[in-house]
Amino acid sequence: MVDALKDLSFQAVFNAAEDAMLLIEDSGHIVLVNPAAQKLFGYAEDELRGQAIEMLIAPRYQKQYSYYQELFFSKPVKRFMSAANELVALDRDRKEILLDISLSPIKAQRQLYALIIFNVTSRRLEAEEALRASEERLRLAKQAAGLGIFDYDLKRNIVYWDKQIRKLWGNDSDETISYEEFVDRIHPKDREARQAAIDYAMNPTGNGEFKAEYRVVNPVDGVEHWISSVGRVYFENERPNRLIGVTRDVTEQKNIQKKLQAQRHETEDILKQQVAARTASAIAHELNQPLAAISVYSEVMLHTLHNDDINFENLKRVLKGCVEQAQRAGRSLHELLAFLQKGELVTERLNLNDVVNEALKIVFDDDYVRFNPVLQLEQNIPAVQCNHTQVQKVLVNLFRNAAEAMRATDLPTLTITTSMQTLSGKDMAMIIVQDNGPGLDHDMAKCIFEPFFTTKPTGIGMGLAISRALIETNGGQLWVDLDAKPGAKFQFTLPFAP
Ligand code: ADP
Repeated sequence: MVDALKDLSFQAVFNAAEDAMLLIEDSGHIVLVNPAAQKLFGYAEDELRGQAIEMLIAPRYQKQYSYYQELFFSKPVKRFMSAANELVALDRDRKEILLDISLSPIKAQRQLYALIIFNVTSRRLEAEEALRASEERLRLAKQAAGLGIFDYDLKRNIVYWDKQIRKLWGNDSDETISYEEFVDRIHPKDREARQAAIDYAMNPTGNGEFKAEYRVVNPVDGVEHWISSVGRVYFENERPNRLIGVTRDVTEQKNIQKKLQAQRHETEDILKQQVAARTASAIAHELNQPLAAISVYSEVMLHTLHNDDINFENLKRVLKGCVEQAQRAGRSLHELLAFLQKGELVTERLNLNDVVNEALKIVFDDDYVRFNPVLQLEQNIPAVQCNHTQVQKVLVNLFRNAAEAMRATDLPTLTITTSMQTLSGKDMAMIIVQDNGPGLDHDMAKCIFEPFFTTKPTGIGMGLAISRALIETNGGQLWVDLDAKPGAKFQFTLPFAP
């Protein structure tokens, strides 16, 4: 022995050791604790001294340890606790430390002690724990996402599957199954598309990606589940040998999708019905007037025929009226349909003065309200580029509305003033139709252009809606001026011909 070390005390070696060490007496009480052990367990020496060593051992291992200690003191020779008999110790924070221990006898002044050396395997434990934790995380993530994992071994034609997939396939056993058994649960109608997706993924020139959606019929409860499956094919020497992937139950999503689709169809149906209703109303609007006139003419004719003294001239005039009205109805219908079908708009250069006069004549021919037309026309107004019938129809509507509104009052004179202006700097003509009837209040004015809004007992409420659409189709705008008094004042613009 080197002389310099002769005086080296047990305590000095004990304290210098890197391994954690304890000295205990045969009663199991701690006598000495080296700094490495203090560090390992997180206690100061005086906190451990005099305590039973069991306080450092996880309760589930205490029995096992006591057995070893007893064995040691009954036959005090150096002993290792084998790896198979690892111990789990506890530190101050009750954190578990996996370790091996060895016990060596030390005799001092006739007293037998056991030197316990701890061989920490905590790193292994940590690694195991990290693995366990990551597996647990994966399991939880899989569970949260509802994912099932499958592994199809193409060489052996078997499918490995996890619990989640087995649940969907209605299979309780842990056993692997043949590919045919796996496919057997897939809805017959979806098998072909799924197989096509697999064939595509197995093409070695592709990227091996597999994606499919199909139904699986659970044989236990007969319930159908929609499965979304994503995976990848792995190749060996350019030959597919494995398909690994995940599946997810997307039944709920599919049901929501179906519901949304049904709602969309329903909305489309309602919309179609509304369009049909509006079209029918528009047609009714066009036919209302001529039919009413035809009915009046026919009644006059019947009345005339009952007389012995038939005035053929009168009869001829009435019949002519009937024919004209019927023809007008036909024309209106034809034009309306062309408008609704959004056919190409046929425009021409129009002299607005002429169109206003024509419209007035039509309204007068209806012969049911007499009013005084005041014209403030601009003789040299430039021609507008518009569809003749459509502009005429708008004017007829405005005149008729004005006449009907005034008829409801007991005014001595009913006047409709039509004036025309050139909108400066806008290349537009503005036409104003003003009556001296009851006019419109603000609330009503908000609704009059809405389809079906009417205050008339036999009205349809489409006249102004159609008129506005017609003017807009011709490149202008139609609105009501609420500040104008007396009566109602409608105005619209139309573009001048280039
Ligand atoms: P309808 O003539 O079938 O009622 P319109 O769309 O042409 O449909 O008119 C809608 C409503 O606007 C009328 O019912 C009426 O209440 C109001 N209206 C239209 N023009 C005038 C007017 N010149 N004066 C007062 N009210 C009017």
